[in-house]
Amino acid sequence: MKRGIRLASFLLVFICLSLALLTAWQIWFSRERAIRELNVANLNLVQALDNYTEGVIRQSELVLNDLSERVQGADFSPQEQERIRRLLQQQTQVLGLANAIVIYDTQGDRLLASSSAPQSGLNAADRAFFIHHRDDPSTDIFIGPTIKSRITGDWVFTVSRRLNDADGGFAGAVAVTLGVEHFLHFYGGLDLGEHGSMSLSSSAGLLLFRQPFREQDVGLDWSDSPVLQILREKHEGTSIQTSRIDGIERLYAFRRNERLPLITVIAVGRAEALAAWRRDAELFAALILLLLLAIGVIGQRLILDIRRRSRMEQQLLSAREELLDANARLEVLASQDALTGLANRRSFDQTLEVEIRRAQRRGSPLSLMLLDIDLFKRYNDRYGHVAGDACLRAVADVLRQCMRRPGDLAARYGGEELAVILPNVDSEGAQTVARTFLQALEQRHLAHQGSPFQRVTVSAGLASLIPSAEDSSAQAVALIRSADQALYRAKSNGRNRLECAEAPRRDASGGDSASHPG
Ligand code: GH3
Ligand code: MG
Ligand code: MG
Repeated sequence: MKRGIRLASFLLVFICLSLALLTAWQIWFSRERAIRELNVANLNLVQALDNYTEGVIRQSELVLNDLSERVQGADFSPQEQERIRRLLQQQTQVLGLANAIVIYDTQGDRLLASSSAPQSGLNAADRAFFIHHRDDPSTDIFIGPTIKSRITGDWVFTVSRRLNDADGGFAGAVAVTLGVEHFLHFYGGLDLGEHGSMSLSSSAGLLLFRQPFREQDVGLDWSDSPVLQILREKHEGTSIQTSRIDGIERLYAFRRNERLPLITVIAVGRAEALAAWRRDAELFAALILLLLLAIGVIGQRLILDIRRRSRMEQQLLSAREELLDANARLEVLASQDALTGLANRRSFDQTLEVEIRRAQRRGSPLSLMLLDIDLFKRYNDRYGHVAGDACLRAVADVLRQCMRRPGDLAARYGGEELAVILPNVDSEGAQTVARTFLQALEQRHLAHQGSPFQRVTVSAGLASLIPSAEDSSAQAVALIRSADQALYRAKSNGRNRLECAEAPRRDASGGDSASHPG
């Protein structure tokens, strides 16, 4: 039962632990899956933004290439200037996102612009794009940093191209200024949640602009970010980081354009993006906790129940054992003679019947010996009843010691009369037993002054038979009677002797009387 309790406890702990572990694993797994799905969605979005930006820049590049061909070798006479300005205005409208298209001369002075704003006193010699084109003979486009337009005051970044003269010398630059506002408007149409952000940077890690827009972020150098490390090996990736701009932890997806030196980054607030997962996980965990509690309570009840039942079973077992003990004691008391410890009369009667039936079945002999202490009245008279009792016990002891076989039964027949049932023993064998007993008693020499033998003696009557198939009770009575008659003869022949019953004869009752089987 203790093993059962141990097993039940182990099972309970095992179930609770595995359920808790499975839940933890499931929650962790679903978080990983949620992050994976968010990353995939963010990567798709960042690719779309990247494509959009590339499209805008490519369009600008086409316009710049077209313009540079058209203005090459132009004399910039007033008519020519008017023609080119109209061209610039036309192209600005075509581009849509462009603030303006401006042509600068070799000194950085503004020659022509698509806008009709005043042109005097505006010089771009200090602008990054102008310095780049002046110093670099390549006619590839250049994407400049975000600057504040000196014409409109808007935040813009430039896509520009060098103008060459006929000899390939520096003839100025033509630049498209793209308004950051246009991009922010476009980005603003995408819902990335409260803490979402989108940004465009140069491949060197200089921020062009970021949504949500803050002036102080323009030109921010994040070139030391691990994102740039990743982008050196791959052209896109994801990571979870804390923003250096506002300290919010976000899921980032970023992409380096394959042709242009631009990096697009989008990010969603981690807590916000995982809110749905967190809600589900908390609900799930709460349900499992309730389940664990229920299992714990039921399990504990079960164990208590097993323990209670085990205790009751133990009590029942010991009660049963006590009862069996008491029964055994009662049985002994019921079959034993209290004074001598020999079998009592009831036991003698039962045993005699049983043994006669057994002898009937087997066809084996059975002997009965009746013993009577001689002149015992005188013994009592002389030594007192207490000594008489002790003498009776002593004679019984001697008789008990002469019983050799387990089937032999010595009993107190009544008063100072004893009886011995000897199963499977014929007359001869029984006589041997009787003589052995008489000799043993002689050796024991219990003093009896009132006896002519000066000691306690016993007269014995012996009867034997091989039972017939007829009534066993009648045969038992006949056997006792025969032994009793033999005993009577022993008394009348002078006591302290053994007499055997006579040869078998049929009596009036029709039952077999005792016989000498041998
Ligand atoms: P006999 O040789 O003819 O048998 O003479 P007896 O005196 O033994 O026979 P009797 O039948 O006259 O007396 C039997 C005596 O045995 C009488 C009785 O006091 C005594 N007696 C019987 N049972 C007990 C007993 O349990 N204890 C004691 N102390 N004496 C007993
Ligand atoms: Mg007697
Ligand atoms: Mg007697």
